[in-house]
Amino acid sequence: MKTALTIAGSDSGGGAGVQADLKAFSALGVYGMSVITAVTAQNTVEVRSVQMLDISIIRDQIAAIFEDLPVDAVKIGMLGSAEIVKNVAEELNKYKPKQIILDPVMVSKGGHHLLLTDAIQSLKEKLLPVVTLVTPNIPEAECLTNTKIENIEDMYQACRNLKELGAKSVLLKGGHLEGDPNDLFFDGMQFTWLKGKRIHTKNVHGTGCTLSSAITAYIAKGYSLQEAVKAGKSYITKAIQYSINIGSGHGPTHHFF
Ligand code: PLP
Repeated sequence: MKTALTIAGSDSGGGAGVQADLKAFSALGVYGMSVITAVTAQNTVEVRSVQMLDISIIRDQIAAIFEDLPVDAVKIGMLGSAEIVKNVAEELNKYKPKQIILDPVMVSKGGHHLLLTDAIQSLKEKLLPVVTLVTPNIPEAECLTNTKIENIEDMYQACRNLKELGAKSVLLKGGHLEGDPNDLFFDGMQFTWLKGKRIHTKNVHGTGCTLSSAITAYIAKGYSLQEAVKAGKSYITKAIQYSINIGSGHGPTHHFF
């Protein structure tokens, strides 16, 4: 059986973070493992509080997994602080998993900061150069590249800039721009558009986590990067189409559609 590891934050409401990642891995038939970096008290409405875990237990979780279990692909989600970024990067440099997908989680849809602003520089310096694929949305890419992204031309340029920063490949999600959510995949040489149709629903909690973990599962299963991002896009489209209308805020994506 193929395996995937998520290094991310816990969402008590089950819609995003580690919980979404493990659901996506399971739905795609991949054995899931998790390293929890932070615990959030959260539901469909809000992130109430966040507690980052001690560095020692984060490093121990990573070591416990890599010293015993096979890891076909790693997904990185919420990291929280510069200290956690640095330590996770050190551990990954030690165990050298072949495939690392980075979802540069920064702010929740409700506006709660999930990455301290002083950690952004560490993310750029320590993690971008070691990952196979980075999957920013528009605000995250703007933050990483220090540029405004307002149109398609800016999206091409942001992908090139992210490559300059060391990312081997980029999936820039276009959903924050007006119109249909078209995403731009850059494999370091060629660009491919992944076109979507906007689905009008309020239930979009955990969409970024779900997409990056679906891509990670497909990569673990042996899909090429290009095939994995295409399959991931169709997974997230269905996960939103069949999203679950629970809670009074943004309901979660569905993984078993
Ligand atoms: N909570 C955790 C632990 C996350 O990792 C994320 C996103 O990556 C979120 C919350 C935010 O989810 P959303 O912005 O989709 O509501």
